[in-house]
Amino acid sequence: MTGNESESAGLVSLVGSGPGDPELLTVKARRLIDEADVVLHDKLPGPTIIETIPEDKREDVGKRAGGDRTSQEYTNERLVKLAREGNHVVRLKGGDPFVFGRGGEEAAYLADHGVDFRVVPGVTSALAGPALAGIPATHREHASTVSFVTGHEDPEKDESAVDWDALADTGGTIVVLMGVGKLPEYTKALREARMSKEVPVALVERASRPDERVVTGTLETIAGIAEREEIEPPAITVIGDVAGERDRVQEFLRR
Ligand code: SAH
Repeated sequence: MTGNESESAGLVSLVGSGPGDPELLTVKARRLIDEADVVLHDKLPGPTIIETIPEDKREDVGKRAGGDRTSQEYTNERLVKLAREGNHVVRLKGGDPFVFGRGGEEAAYLADHGVDFRVVPGVTSALAGPALAGIPATHREHASTVSFVTGHEDPEKDESAVDWDALADTGGTIVVLMGVGKLPEYTKALREARMSKEVPVALVERASRPDERVVTGTLETIAGIAEREEIEPPAITVIGDVAGERDRVQEFLRR
């Protein structure tokens, strides 16, 4: 249905893919992917889901041939162009499209350019990662709050968007996304903010995928453990007493 520049009945669906297990796609996500004219995706939905999309209707906007990242600008413009040509476009994003996924930027761009869109929430890795590892994000005895934070920035820098001191004071559960590279820095920042170095920490790597791994430690030990085990993105960091619940249930936790 490409080619018709005028008379557009195009639509963009910003769809969350969940953490990677195709059975954790919503029924709606699955249907929209199957019905779409074009699917724009990056790497995060994972190979198992991406391979279910016919090759001739998927476009990888995660990396270009040379290995450079596709700019957000390119993706935005591509969405508008395809929709204006009358296509139903699925923009497939890992987890939930509005959790550290730039879905909000894409929605705003589409609205600014007069393109209809819809949002299909997905199972965010921020909750699915801990859950699959047997870690409840909240717990009546351990955590009445949950904070979702990005680890992608330097906790040392002056105007850090994440206030680690305040997080240490709040207590509760801290879930860090994009938090592998800076793990040593922010675990140190939390210790310096007087969070106990004994607080349990878990890392859930490639949650829900066949090669999922979980490692556990404490605020003091986890950075060394992650390095030794060569934990790589994508992984979720769970900091807080709830992370200790894994040990209690692990023996009976089935996949
Ligand atoms: N919108 C996504 C998050 C995008 S930010 C969501 O809701 O899940 C990218 C970060 O998400 C990664 O760095 C990692 O921290 C996390 N992530 C996404 N999928 C993951 C998975 N299957 N296992 C572990 N972490 C994952």
